[in-house]
Amino acid sequence: MTFSLRPTYADPHLAALVDKLRDYLDGELAEYEHDRGISRAGRLTRADLQPVWQRSRELGFYGIHLPNEHGGQDLTHTQLAALKEEIGASGRVLGHSVLGDMGGPLRAGDILRYATEHQLKTYFLPVVRAERACCFSLTETDAGSDVRSMRTTAQRDGDDYILNGHKVFSSAGPFADFAIVVARMAGTGESGNEGEGDKPRFSAFLLDLDTPGCRVLDGATPMSGEHIESDIVLENCRVPAHNLLGEEGKGLRIALGRVTVNRLLHCPTALGAMRRALDLTLDRTRHRTVAGGRPLLSLQAIQHKVADMATEFYAARSMTYAALAALDRGEDVRTEAFMCKLFVAESAFRLLDEAVQIHGKEGLTQGNEIEYLFRKIRMFRILTGTSEIQRNGIARDLAFMSS
Ligand SMILES: Cc1cc2nc3c(=O)[nH]c(=O)nc-3n(C[C@H](O)[C@H](O)[C@H](O)COP(=O)(O)OP(=O)(O)OC[C@H]3O[C@@H](n4cnc5c(N)ncnc54)[C@H](O)[C@@H]3O)c2cc1C
Repeated sequence: MTFSLRPTYADPHLAALVDKLRDYLDGELAEYEHDRGISRAGRLTRADLQPVWQRSRELGFYGIHLPNEHGGQDLTHTQLAALKEEIGASGRVLGHSVLGDMGGPLRAGDILRYATEHQLKTYFLPVVRAERACCFSLTETDAGSDVRSMRTTAQRDGDDYILNGHKVFSSAGPFADFAIVVARMAGTGESGNEGEGDKPRFSAFLLDLDTPGCRVLDGATPMSGEHIESDIVLENCRVPAHNLLGEEGKGLRIALGRVTVNRLLHCPTALGAMRRALDLTLDRTRHRTVAGGRPLLSLQAIQHKVADMATEFYAARSMTYAALAALDRGEDVRTEAFMCKLFVAESAFRLLDEAVQIHGKEGLTQGNEIEYLFRKIRMFRILTGTSEIQRNGIARDLAFMSS
């Protein structure tokens, strides 16, 4: 049987990790949240998060995907995805702080690969040790899907670059010590027609957020209600040239590098939320009675809904793990990654919509977990590449495929 609401794994190393993670999420982390009064409605602080980063590091989870020399366990993509799914399915508010999604090694991502010795020592290794935290700042008010239209500029000036611009929606910004900022090199792409010689060139920088000329402001609150976004305003902000990541002009490639992998690795968190919603919904339908004292689940209309929800989850999960397994075998899964991000986001949304329907007024009530999950999952159709952008990618790849 390959469908389960509590998956088991044939890989003994992964099975042991998942067991240990479930114990941590349901035990120590649940208690920590309870003792500190942490809830979805509250505003998290660095003081709430840092102990979780550190404890998760001690237990071996924080940065677990990294190579052994950086204190990780060199996990395959499939293994990492299974852990992310478990976190998504746990319902823990602080789940994002266990593997390093919130300001930790997973947010720094593959950028580690481009770091110099100085950058490793000053920025990335402290992140891996849960001492420092980072955010990623690409988006601007008028530059989202079309990041190339960004207006933030970088101008070389002696041993520094001078940054000017305004970034929005930098997740984990309120907890971060530094940002990975992408800016357009001043003097490139300004006419907007991208003629030869006028092509915008982008560079990526490591920016300490306490640098003069840099202001971190409270960002917009997305519909999930989480206060984890920052605006980063740069006014003649000087960044030393040794904080340039990789080569000048290669910043976008660095920032968007490994997009295929990242796209796939965002799916398991949504799969976890789907599993959690299905679990909560089944529970509700078993215990909620309707006329005649019968449980909701005895009604065929409800049975069909949960059957569709389970089938959507199974389809979304199967395709994601098939693509991850191919990626681990070294295959090119670019098209499949677009498909997975699209299908997981759209099916998760359908599933959560039905979960709300089945929960009735409870599903519409603030404080109910299904109501939160619905809002959270709705965002996934836009975050990390909208569904339309995934479709563009699939269609583009199909156009070049021979039959
Ligand atoms: C909660 C949250 C967290 C975020 N975290 C970060 C972060 O940490 N760092 C960061 O840099 N950014 C972050 N973002 C920004 C996010 O990546 C962008 O919101 C996303 O890329 C979409 O850009 P946009 O919102 O400007 O939409 P737009 O680009 O304005 O798109 C609007 C609509 O037009 C469609 N559209 C646009 N272009 C095309 C096209 N070519 N073909 C077809 N349809 C198209 C889109 O699909 C969408 O439906 C975050 C956003 C949110 C809401």
